[in-house]
Amino acid sequence: MSGPMSRGNIYVVTGPSGVGKGTLCALLLEANPALRLSISATSRGMRVGEQDGVNYHFKTKEAFEAMIAHDNAEPNPEKHHLLEWAEYNGNYYGTPRAAVEAALSQGNHVLLEIETQGALQVKRKFPEARLIFIAPPGMEELERRLRGRGTEADADIENRLRIARHEMTLQEQFDHICTNADLQACLLDLREIIPNPSPI
Ligand code: 5GP
Repeated sequence: MSGPMSRGNIYVVTGPSGVGKGTLCALLLEANPALRLSISATSRGMRVGEQDGVNYHFKTKEAFEAMIAHDNAEPNPEKHHLLEWAEYNGNYYGTPRAAVEAALSQGNHVLLEIETQGALQVKRKFPEARLIFIAPPGMEELERRLRGRGTEADADIENRLRIARHEMTLQEQFDHICTNADLQACLLDLREIIPNPSPI
């Protein structure tokens, strides 16, 4: 049994770009009042429809590099800006540490939607974190989804697919693998893994 003041855990949803991580996370959050989404920092440009502080904390490359330099020079991990960070497709992405810590100590679970290198860093720092790899039913379907969402230019899509092929080789390193062939079925798998307090 976990009382209201017990510390929360970290649930990492990872997997290739276009696999449906964002949609799955949004649906998980909707139905789970004890789950908090970590809002990442990134140096990539804002897409149409995105909002600073909502989708990401948008930073310049220089500001992001200053956070990395600070953390590299800081021996105490409790003073780090970032819990993990990675370079993906030419941009920096990272998880702000303080917000995650605050949510955990309030007894909430934290959901991280991040790429694979960052996910493996989280496991090194928090061995109790649960890492979930969302796999596409196939690479052709992944390509179809990436092109279908229409948010990236062709060259960007090619690069994301190239990274995806590499990410697929890392699957075995995660605690769970859920194939997103059918959204509702995949969501059910995730709900088995991430605890949801039943309504009073
Ligand atoms: P996008 O540019 O499509 O928003 O994100 C690109 C990739 O970066 C996605 O796989 C996304 O999950 C990942 N990502 C987003 N935030 C973070 C983060 O804080 N850390 C890491 N390592 N990856 C992230």
